[in-house]
Amino acid sequence: MTSLFRRRRREPLAVPLEPEPTGIDCTVPGCPNTDALRCEYRDRRGHLCPVSFCPDHGTVIEGAPYCRRHASTVRAIGALASDPNGRPDLDDRTPSLVNWISRELDGHIRAQLEAAAGEGESVVSDDAVHLSRDQNRNLRWERSWRLVENTGLVLKISIHVSAENDELVRINVGSEMVADGIPPWIARRKMGEDVDVSIDVAQRQLFYLYLQESIAKAVAEFRGGDRRSAR
Ligand SMILES: [Zn+2]
Ligand SMILES: [Zn+2]
Repeated sequence: MTSLFRRRRREPLAVPLEPEPTGIDCTVPGCPNTDALRCEYRDRRGHLCPVSFCPDHGTVIEGAPYCRRHASTVRAIGALASDPNGRPDLDDRTPSLVNWISRELDGHIRAQLEAAAGEGESVVSDDAVHLSRDQNRNLRWERSWRLVENTGLVLKISIHVSAENDELVRINVGSEMVADGIPPWIARRKMGEDVDVSIDVAQRQLFYLYLQESIAKAVAEFRGGDRRSAR
């Protein structure tokens, strides 16, 4: 019975990062919190993010604190984030944009490919955004979905944004670009426009509908035509 009261040495437990009064101001305008942490994002050139943020305005991913922008970048590039040479420049929003559009279209693209899949074909997809090059050797961030069979690729759908035009989202089905457009929220930000939430929602829906219809049409055409492989 005495064992109940016996003092035990406690093992130090792994404690989750808790907000502590760090004395650093949050850099988000209007935020009064002074328990901010420095964003630990360092890009491939070795530049460090200068932003500090409180727990309300940042995220901890695998033990490392990030500001919102870089948390989104790290999520977009997945495993590439652990490669110091794979990390996009500090102000590069492109991987996040590709990832955002990909998440919105993922269900639709899978459904299209699964419906189009023939005997022995299956759908595989990237789980993160990665760097690739177009036919002109220009760098672009992309994420793709592929219909494959045991002899190889049948059809690839990719969402990509190039380094030199970082607002324009393009979609390829096979070798053909079937849709491109600047997302409405980016177009508005560029023009300094502000709209009601309902208009914002309607514009986004219209944009995604256009992308979805373009993809569906191209997949149908591919399957309606011959079955040669397209890259
Ligand atoms: Zn804050
Ligand atoms: Zn940051």
